[in-house]
Amino acid sequence: MSYCQVIVDITSEDVDRVFTYRVPKGMELCPGMRVHVPFGRMNRVEGVVVEMAEDCDLPPARVRDVTDTLEDYPAILPSMLDLAKRIKETSFCTLAQALRLMIPAQMRGERIRSRTREYAVLTVDQDIWAQALASQKRAPRRAQALQALMQAPQGEMPMDELKAQAGDCRQSVLALQELGFVRLERRESLRSPYGAMEQLAQHDPQLTPQQEEVLSALLPAIEAGKGAFLLYGVTGSGKTEVFIRAVRRAAQMGRTAIVLVPEIALTPQMVMWFRSRFGEDAAVLHSRLSPGERYDEWRRIRRGDVRVVIGARSAIFAPLENVGLIIIDEEHEQSYIADNNPRYDARELARMRCEREGAALLLASATPSMRSFAMAGRGDLTLLEMLRRVKNRPMPQVHIVDMRDELKKGNRSVFSGALLDGLRACMDAGRQAILFVNRRGYSTFVSCRSCGYTVSCTQCDVSMTYHMSEHALRCHYCGQEAQVPTVCPECGSRYIKFFGTGTQRVEEEVHRYFPDIPVLRMDNDTTRTKDAHETILSAFRRGEARILVGTQMIAKGLDFPNVTMVGIVAADAMLKLPDYRSAERTFQLLTQVAGRAGRAEYPGEVYLQTYDPEHYAVEAASRQDYRAFYAEEMQRRKRALYPPYTLIARILIESGSEDKAQAAAQAAMRQMEAFLDRRAYLRKYIAALRVMPCPVKRIKGKSRWQVTLKIVDKPICQEAVGKMSEIAQAPVEGCLCVCQVNPSSMM
Ligand code: ADP
Ligand code: ZN
Ligand code: ZN
Repeated sequence: MSYCQVIVDITSEDVDRVFTYRVPKGMELCPGMRVHVPFGRMNRVEGVVVEMAEDCDLPPARVRDVTDTLEDYPAILPSMLDLAKRIKETSFCTLAQALRLMIPAQMRGERIRSRTREYAVLTVDQDIWAQALASQKRAPRRAQALQALMQAPQGEMPMDELKAQAGDCRQSVLALQELGFVRLERRESLRSPYGAMEQLAQHDPQLTPQQEEVLSALLPAIEAGKGAFLLYGVTGSGKTEVFIRAVRRAAQMGRTAIVLVPEIALTPQMVMWFRSRFGEDAAVLHSRLSPGERYDEWRRIRRGDVRVVIGARSAIFAPLENVGLIIIDEEHEQSYIADNNPRYDARELARMRCEREGAALLLASATPSMRSFAMAGRGDLTLLEMLRRVKNRPMPQVHIVDMRDELKKGNRSVFSGALLDGLRACMDAGRQAILFVNRRGYSTFVSCRSCGYTVSCTQCDVSMTYHMSEHALRCHYCGQEAQVPTVCPECGSRYIKFFGTGTQRVEEEVHRYFPDIPVLRMDNDTTRTKDAHETILSAFRRGEARILVGTQMIAKGLDFPNVTMVGIVAADAMLKLPDYRSAERTFQLLTQVAGRAGRAEYPGEVYLQTYDPEHYAVEAASRQDYRAFYAEEMQRRKRALYPPYTLIARILIESGSEDKAQAAAQAAMRQMEAFLDRRAYLRKYIAALRVMPCPVKRIKGKSRWQVTLKIVDKPICQEAVGKMSEIAQAPVEGCLCVCQVNPSSMM
């Protein structure tokens, strides 16, 4: 008799353990396979086999049979089963929740399956074809179908194509099958998400000495199957080429690789590069794939058809076997953190996978995260540097423009005189320009000049954003729309003013100054449809527009040889956000945006408009001086006890009732205090423990409260973080509670 241990796909805590089932005769099972099992009063629940067992201590009457299997292969690889267990431990979630990360969501509940195509396959040998045909003289339809198959390569054809040639011949083909001439079979057919992709040059460029040097450190680690690196390479230093060579080396050794990129807007270019060099050997996983495409890519990966997987955060769960290298590009990006359900940091999971599977890890950025650079300082990561651009091209020259002076001069336009001159010079030279508008923190809101009233969303504690094209207000948190008032609802004044500089406003201004120059805009509004990113970026690449106006989406990774000028409309827009990382994010963003200029033959110029020119983040970014910024920022973090010196855990509580949210937050606080009374030795590691409303007090009509814990980042302190998580998991009537650790947003 054989048994198996199953985790059922129910995420409640009470069933967060394995259950034993009997394996019926003839059913082949192994760990990682998905099964249907009866569970309690439910007679069909999905589960994952985590272990096989020869016998079982339970009385036979209490053990039930596995009903059936969902696939005839383990959907969850052994290494991924391990990873799920680690996630359960570090994220304080159930194993079922962790396992859900490992397969496309639509595979659960069988909402999606392989798409198959029916083939008709000739089964008679060529020397008796004539005979077979002759036997069907009286059945012209059958003869026609046979003839078509005889002319097809390998004597086979998909049924839909056969029907196109020979008419509706299904009955005839079935008859031919009866006669033993033909066999009908279903084969999996995979949807391809690469439809209209541009192809780039496929040849290998000669490596630069810097690239050679970095690779000579990296390749032995790939061969040895261990080592973790941080590649600090300035913008335009040629990091992508390093990735490609490293992945290829891994492939030559018969191993596979995962390349993580932060955002969808970045993916098309990176995907394009990899696809043009690796062809069908590369798979993409990103959030814009249709469920079918996602499933098919997952299948290709799982079947071992691909050598390299490129994708956003969740591609760290790609079911690749024999991983030899994991690369995380733009490693400083917040998007590598999933805040909850369950929380994980793709960078940490990458490290675990590498250790578990004997692979090398490469984090890369022009603006490494404080945490990674500190790890490199301690020797936990090996630092590799590329401090010059490819072919010794100069770094862009950055001009800081003090916008307070512009105001004094009476210039109320969004553009300074200097930026306009630079843009004009760039256009006159026949080149392209990028104008960057910081979306985050730079609200485009409507406000009354007499009394200061601003239009806020009725559901969320934020001002609504003005959309010029529809002349309407929209809330960016919940999507609610409102009319633009003509008189102030508070004081009746007619002096209503539109504040701020959105992408639309910038686009209009560009039209005003350069009526004949074609402009493209890339922001949330213009990229709602599936292929919008690719369409806009490739139009810009082809030179169909000379100026690209955009938000964060255009800040990173893009490589347009003809772009020689970058204008940063408001550099300091997010310095004022209530988040300890606002200086770091400002520095990263400015450096990355500036790095889009002058990446090919022609040198680049950057105009950085700011109201805060002396700020160290702005200043260091203008010199592209990562180390100077890092030194200053680390001192500040140390003084204020912020990560990486500490970690921040928060219990976030949302409720339709302000009172309930507040009461729940206060109750959570009391529990935490009581816990610390019992664990007095933890007190000395705690920098702060507070209960208060969140900076954004309301979203979608829900009041938001938080308990925040700032504690030294030491193993012993995990206990306190675990307690925060435990408190958050206890259900509170009328409230939604989650625990986040170093959340990507503190709002
Ligand atoms: P990064 O990611 O470091 O900012 P990229 O990888 O985008 O830089 O490279 C910048 C540019 O230099 C790209 O256009 C790339 O094709 C080119 N490039 C990279 N390596 C080489 C090389 N060895 N020889 C010539 N051009 C290169
Ligand atoms: Zn007013
Ligand atoms: Zn809202």
